[in-house]
Amino acid sequence: MQVRFWGTRGSIAAPGPTTMRYGGNTACVEVRLNDGTLIIFDAGTGIRALGQALLTQPKPIQAYLFLSHAHWDHIQGLPFFIPAYIGGTELTILGPEHDTLTLEEIVTGQMQTPYFPIPMHVMAATIKFVKLGEGQVFTLPNGTTVEAGQVNHPGCTLGYRLTAQGKVLAYTTDNEPFGDALASRHMVRPARHLALVQQADLLIQDAQYTPEEYAPQRIGWGHSTYLHAVQLAQQAHVKRLALFHHDPSHSDEDIDQILAHCREYIAQHHGALECVGAAEGVVLLL
Ligand SMILES: [Zn+2]
Ligand SMILES: [Zn+2]
Repeated sequence: MQVRFWGTRGSIAAPGPTTMRYGGNTACVEVRLNDGTLIIFDAGTGIRALGQALLTQPKPIQAYLFLSHAHWDHIQGLPFFIPAYIGGTELTILGPEHDTLTLEEIVTGQMQTPYFPIPMHVMAATIKFVKLGEGQVFTLPNGTTVEAGQVNHPGCTLGYRLTAQGKVLAYTTDNEPFGDALASRHMVRPARHLALVQQADLLIQDAQYTPEEYAPQRIGWGHSTYLHAVQLAQQAHVKRLALFHHDPSHSDEDIDQILAHCREYIAQHHGALECVGAAEGVVLLL
């Protein structure tokens, strides 16, 4: 399978001269299976450019869009995803619900007046909504499975484990290690996150903060440090780790330095883990 990053930034888009290499768009990852099946993780601002690239395809577009949660940096690009306005496009949107709001209400809500000028029902695509929750497994027609698991982040946030053609991709953006108190509040054990990413060929994981930035005021905000990301990947015997959800204040040089720290840490612990910084436009093959 082929994995392409269209948006790697966390919290808010951060375009500009200091973020040219890793990118300023918010979360969006395209996965192409060998049979051409299109899977998308999250619809941050990066999905706009993905939509434009898809328009050059001759066939009607069929896509499965897995949303981790409904924070703006994960859904805000969807109103600008042009294939959704084209008849013949088939879009299946999958993700968690929130309290009394259904997934459809959450997704259509951001396009209601006064937030957006065009309501979602104007989209001419056939759009299906599929609610996912902790432990649920969605099976695509070609047998590919995507398992959902709740991660530690405000609201209901899901991580995903995609298994296709003998390869495993884990996508766990927006999460913080479970402390004892947090684990009991969410009633999900830390081991669950570990199981979700276990032995993945590629783990795309929240690495928003440096350890210095994390403590003490940002504890409980639902994000990890780069060291948390490396430790999780090592514990789970992951082959390759992509640091993701870069902090909007981090420049390309900051992320280079974070990556260097990660590689140094891995070498000190005699690990075989390969570590990369997720960057817009970069394609990884599994
Ligand atoms: Zn986020
Ligand atoms: Zn979030």
